[in-house]
Amino acid sequence: MERNLATSADQADYLVDLSNVVRQQSIGGPGLRSLRRLHLVVQALAKLTGDPNVLVYLIADTSLLSGHREFTSQADVRRLRRWVTDGLVEEVDDADERVLEIAGMTGLQVISSDHYVDHRLEHTWIQGNTWQFLKPEPGSGGIVTLVLMDMGVRTPAEISRRMELSALKKQGLLDGSQTPLIDVLKRTWRCPEARCSLYDIRRGDRVFLPRMRQGVPTCEVHGTPLLDDGPRPGAAQLKAVVNGACVGRYTLNEDSETRVGRNPAPSGISLYNLLDSTAAPRVSREHVVVSVKKGMVLIRDISRYGTRMRTAGKRGRLGPWEPLPPQVDRRFHPGDEVELAPGVIITRSGRRFPPELADAWRTPTPQTSLPPGAAATTRLN
Ligand SMILES: [Zn+2]
Repeated sequence: MERNLATSADQADYLVDLSNVVRQQSIGGPGLRSLRRLHLVVQALAKLTGDPNVLVYLIADTSLLSGHREFTSQADVRRLRRWVTDGLVEEVDDADERVLEIAGMTGLQVISSDHYVDHRLEHTWIQGNTWQFLKPEPGSGGIVTLVLMDMGVRTPAEISRRMELSALKKQGLLDGSQTPLIDVLKRTWRCPEARCSLYDIRRGDRVFLPRMRQGVPTCEVHGTPLLDDGPRPGAAQLKAVVNGACVGRYTLNEDSETRVGRNPAPSGISLYNLLDSTAAPRVSREHVVVSVKKGMVLIRDISRYGTRMRTAGKRGRLGPWEPLPPQVDRRFHPGDEVELAPGVIITRSGRRFPPELADAWRTPTPQTSLPPGAAATTRLN
């Protein structure tokens, strides 16, 4: 097989997301990790191209080899280590990022069953791509066939949710069943180093997530166990979108009630300066009330001419517009849109806050963009 391995991406015909292939349990027999799967993929490529010397460039996370106990055969582990030493495998901390960087620059096709949802803000070329990603699928008689994947278009809300989960995973904040460690996430933390403010929520909203080390929240920089600083206040972020462009972002705190309108008095979110002369008279002075209670966000219509709302489904797909019943609180989820007047929309950023994160994770998102019959192979990175 070594003759099919390239030592650099410029020589290669294909890129292989090695960790993904080695762990794809629907091919190459039983076992959590097996190099046999790569062997079958290379055979499939040789058949597809008619070239027995087809060259692949392998990229793997360092976690592939650090999890060596999961390999079916220790001979695979020794072989992989030798490949790393010989420059036949590029080993990096974040293989997805490296695979996409090279694929984006060179246009090489990628062998993987990952949908890379959490990388789509940076690599926008993945959205709607139907030609660059090949997924290994079991064929008859134990061989593998490679199927072009329709990557589909994911909504900003879903991409941002996946990015958040991905960030949690990096910090060790997902448990064995990929569930966020809510007990850690709903507290605030403080580093015992007096000058360390990485976790201080009073400093602003860009606080670090604690890094879990042996079950203990730890400071990223100082490596010291963090001190529990009490419950984390709930909060949510609102966005004002006028004629399709986001023109304002507002942070709401737990136990708050905020009036939003043309010019709410004495306080609240005033949209007056953001509206043109057609939209301004259609937005009431006080149009809606947004409240945050127990980590839940609610919206209430208090306008003269009414408000419409459409809610985002599980994958962020928006339902039909419906009038908001006046003077009644409705749940307002990330991705939902509330229209105050034509072209004037209030929405919630995809960023979720801990109590909602827990809710979302109890009902996992189905991978509906997969072709019928394909195995769901969601992998969080
Ligand atoms: Zn620190």
